Order: sequence, then structure tokens, then C-alpha cells
Amino acid sequence: MTQIFTIGQTKRFLERWTSEPAFKELIAKNPEQAITKYNLTFHPEEIRMLWDRGYALESDPEQVPDPVQQYRDFIHEKFAHRDLLRDQSASSDSRINAWRKRQMMRCISQLGVAKHGSIVHAPFAVELNQGCSVGCWFCAYSAPKLSALYRYTKENEKLWQETLRILRDVWGESAKYGFCYWATEPLDNPDYEQFLSDFHKILGYFPQTTTAVPLRDIDRTRKLIKLSQQNNGFVERFSIHSLEILEEVYRHFSADELKWVELVTQNEESDMAYANSGKILAGTNDNKNKIVVNDSTIACVSGFLLNMVDKSVQLITPCISNNRWPKGYIIYDEKHFTNGEELREVLEQLIDTHMPTTLGRDQRVQFRSDLRMQIEENGFSLHLKHPTYNSAQPHPFYNSPSRIMHPKLSDLGTLITLGNMTAGEMALFFEEKECIAPAETFHCLNTIFSFGLLKEGPE
Ligand code: SF4
Repeated sequence: MTQIFTIGQTKRFLERWTSEPAFKELIAKNPEQAITKYNLTFHPEEIRMLWDRGYALESDPEQVPDPVQQYRDFIHEKFAHRDLLRDQSASSDSRINAWRKRQMMRCISQLGVAKHGSIVHAPFAVELNQGCSVGCWFCAYSAPKLSALYRYTKENEKLWQETLRILRDVWGESAKYGFCYWATEPLDNPDYEQFLSDFHKILGYFPQTTTAVPLRDIDRTRKLIKLSQQNNGFVERFSIHSLEILEEVYRHFSADELKWVELVTQNEESDMAYANSGKILAGTNDNKNKIVVNDSTIACVSGFLLNMVDKSVQLITPCISNNRWPKGYIIYDEKHFTNGEELREVLEQLIDTHMPTTLGRDQRVQFRSDLRMQIEENGFSLHLKHPTYNSAQPHPFYNSPSRIMHPKLSDLGTLITLGNMTAGEMALFFEEKECIAPAETFHCLNTIFSFGLLKEGPE
């Protein structure tokens, strides 16, 4: 057989491998038959390093076949882009940046480095609908039924364009890494593409789309993929709910056409794991014996969540899904607006209220409730779920700006644990008892604050 390797063909093979047990079995039992049945353009043995972990581990790392190396390069390119989105989504406003950095540090210590790696902490998400027509059993945001759409009318066009300009003004150039769906199916909105085109024109980037209904209107989906490619979009996503849908997608879209479209295979047979969030956490649905991961989240915004239908804006950041925050994100605050001017005002209010760069004198200081403090000889250590913070030897992962060493830090650790004093009161306490300059105590407190180790936001 003439073997044809493209990234798209390899990707398609691996999608089947992870979602279709019958495919796996046939590859093991009779690869030639699998080639014919599934129209494979190459022999599976040629890319064995990609689907057989044991084989990959035993293989000579210097002898990697070209198709395997090309696919690995492709995956690395996607990971590099994801990391770039996270690193470059910093704001030009120092208050937003300090807050976002604290949230990132908190997330690392709560979720671990590996899980945190998949969170981009995007600057904003906008919902252009209220609710969702799909009703997935696993919906991590427990999206309600679709009840309203934000159509591209003359009036809405004006407010939408204004909204994008305001987000750019408030956040800075990296506002372009926002996107236009959340607890919504973007293609429920017939005008979605017009909103995206404005997004591209005003913010200079074509935002990513995830749709669970790629087959609802195949021409429309195809045009959206093309529109994204023409405007230098990067990756799009189809959420696939059954093997029948997977087959239909394969029938209508070529492997190469879907090179930059990730198929998130959520069919019953796939080995995908789910965060214990939303509908799964609520236990209202049969989880179909799926792997459910505790201490996780699918939220990826540390910034603003807007809904254009009810004109609301929330300040949100990811967290482990729990009974307090069942959708896997903390809601710091929520406000409403009726026009652009009001939106600008409420965004400023959210920043002013919730994003101090340093601790105020009157701010009560207490460690996050998931931390355990332990007194050490020259200070204290904090035991986090993932890395451990030690005041004398800050964890390198935290990229600590300075070593905090002070014989009286043990007392500071105790006071912060008790949590009944303000920053100003602590400074005064150390000044009176130990003759420590208030600036020094504030420096210690602010360093701890900047690592995201203190309680902030809603209870
Ligand atoms: S997962 Fe997405 S498509 Fe499914 S119900 Fe939730 S919002 Fe809708």
C-alpha cells in the first residue's frame, strides 16, 4: 500500500484509538482488516510509538519515525500556543496583573502544576445567549435551557463593538485572548460569526470556538472553520457525544480539514475523564460509569464573564469545584450595565474593589482556609496541597522575589493563622513588642499576599 501520512490522518487515527474500543481491538487482532474497514492511509505499526505507551518507552528515542516526530511537533506547537495565551494574557493594568498572578499561584497550589498547565486564565468570556440548547449530562456549568439570544441588531451591534473597545481599554491589548461562549452553545446564536468578525476587527484576534453541534448545519460549521483559518485563528473544538456523531463528522469533514479542530470525544465508550463539577457534582445525572476527577475544574478565565442578554458582568477565577463554587470558579462580584458607559464604570469598580496590589492597613489578614501553618525555627511553613511554602526557604516554583527571614516570623505566622487582626494592627503589634519597623512587617505581609496565600474575595 502507498502510505499517506498527514497530521490530520494521524490525528484521526488517535481520536478513534481513544474513543472506540472496537477499533482498538481490530488493530490488535487484524491490522490489515482495520486498514480496509476504517480507510486508513498508513499501516498502524508505522506510528506505534503514538498509541502503544510500553512500546514507546522501550524504543530508542533517537530512532523516531518521521510521522511520529511530525505529530509530536504538532502537539508541542499546540501546547506552546496555550502557554503563550496564559503568559501573554497579562494586563496593562498593574492591579489586574497582581490579582491575576495571585489567582494563578492559588490555583497552582490547589490544583497542582500539571492540571494548572491546561488553564490559560483568559481575560474574559462573553455569553451571547442565555442558556444552552444542548443539555449535556456532564455540563460542568450546569447550563440552564436556552431562553434568549443576543441578536446582531443595529442597537446590539453598537453595544457589542463598544464592549470590545472597553474591554481592550480596561484590560489592554491582551484582551484579544478572550472568547465568546461559556455556559452556552455558541452556534445557538444565528449571528455568532458576525460577533466574531467584529471581535477580530477590533481586538485583532480570531477567538476560539467550542461547539457541541458541529452537524446541526454542516455548511455553517465548515464556513466557520474557514473563517477562523482566513483570520489566523488557531484551534477550534467539536464536542462529540456519540460514535454515530463521530462517524458523521468523519463523513462530512476530511482529516486534513479538521487538522486544527480538536475532537473532544465525550461518547460513552471513550476513556475521557470529567471534572466533578456542575451537573456531575450535583449528582442529578447518571455519570455513565465515567472517570470523575475530584479536586478539578474546567474553568479557564481569571477576569470578566459577561452575558450580553441580561447585561451582567461577573469577576471570576477558577477553583476546585465544591459545594460553595459548584461550577469550578469563584464569583468575586456581579454587576449590571445598560450601556457602554456603565460597563466601563462597573469594570473599574470591580477592579478598584477587588484587585488591590498590596494590603490596605484596614484589611484583615488570614491564611487561606486550605493551608496549614507550622511554626519553624526561623519562621513558619505553610503546607499546601501541592508545593509547600516555607518563609525561610520559599519554594522555587513560586519564583519568590526574596527570602523572608526574621526571628519573629513565627509570631507573624501565628497571628495570620488566628486571622483576627488587620495588617495595620499587626504592624503596630510588631513595632511595639519587637521594635520592627511597620514597613518591614508590611513587606513580609505583602510578599505572602502576592503569593496568593491569604484569604481574599468572597467568603
Ligand atoms: S457542556 Fe456546553 S454544550 Fe453542553 S450543556 Fe453545557 S454549555 Fe451546553
